[in-house]
Amino acid sequence: MVTAENLYSADIRQNLHAVKARIDEAARVAGRAPDTVALVAISKTHGADSIADAITAGHRLFGENRVQESEDKWPALLERAPDVRVHLVGPLQSNKVKRAVQLFHGIQTLDRPKLARALAHEFDAQGRQSECFIQINTGEEPQKAGILPSEADGFIAECRDKMGLPIAGLMCIPPADEEAGLHFGLLAEMAGRNGLHRISMGMSGDFETAVRFGATHVRVGTAIFGQRRPVRLGLE
Ligand SMILES: *Cc1c(COP(=O)(O)O)cnc(C)c1O
Repeated sequence: MVTAENLYSADIRQNLHAVKARIDEAARVAGRAPDTVALVAISKTHGADSIADAITAGHRLFGENRVQESEDKWPALLERAPDVRVHLVGPLQSNKVKRAVQLFHGIQTLDRPKLARALAHEFDAQGRQSECFIQINTGEEPQKAGILPSEADGFIAECRDKMGLPIAGLMCIPPADEEAGLHFGLLAEMAGRNGLHRISMGMSGDFETAVRFGATHVRVGTAIFGQRRPVRLGLE
């Protein structure tokens, strides 16, 4: 019988090991050095206990998708493991930019000019920066956040050259019903022609494909932590 208990009691250390082995193999097949691919363990909805297991297993890079949830979980964890890095991979509202910059080492969802201006202002005000990834809406899906491919080069230049933002790379979430490789290829090409070295793409279902297309950051949740816990409504 599947109970709540055994549904959530995945062996996180073993899962991390298995995902890393698959990344290494995909890199090897693609002729890339395994250490050129960073695994971002997406811990959204999972409790501090599960995250602590991953930290104890030696993992140091995590991703979350909500500011409030991260503020509830992360300060205590970071106090115990100050070398851990946490990236925001979910949408960021302008009124939460201050809190996001206080907490996150990376922001992977820079998806509009207004947010770019707010981040530039906040980095200045706090005297600290989070490395930024620009989210590209490679599938041009109306319901999805991100800069359209046709506007990407201009937006990258605007953020980097005019606003002086620390743009590390690009990020995408391909449409669920399309061949992910097409989108990964497009993102990698866009990063290359703009001289950006970091490419965040690939999730539990397709991270090996992403590695083949040049991902430097794969964002994997379910394959590490198991099924996500039901989202608590009204969390933010
Ligand atoms: C939840 C999430 C992931 C991880 O998805 P899995 O399929 O659980 O690996 C990756 N990227 C983003 C932006 C997410 O919100």
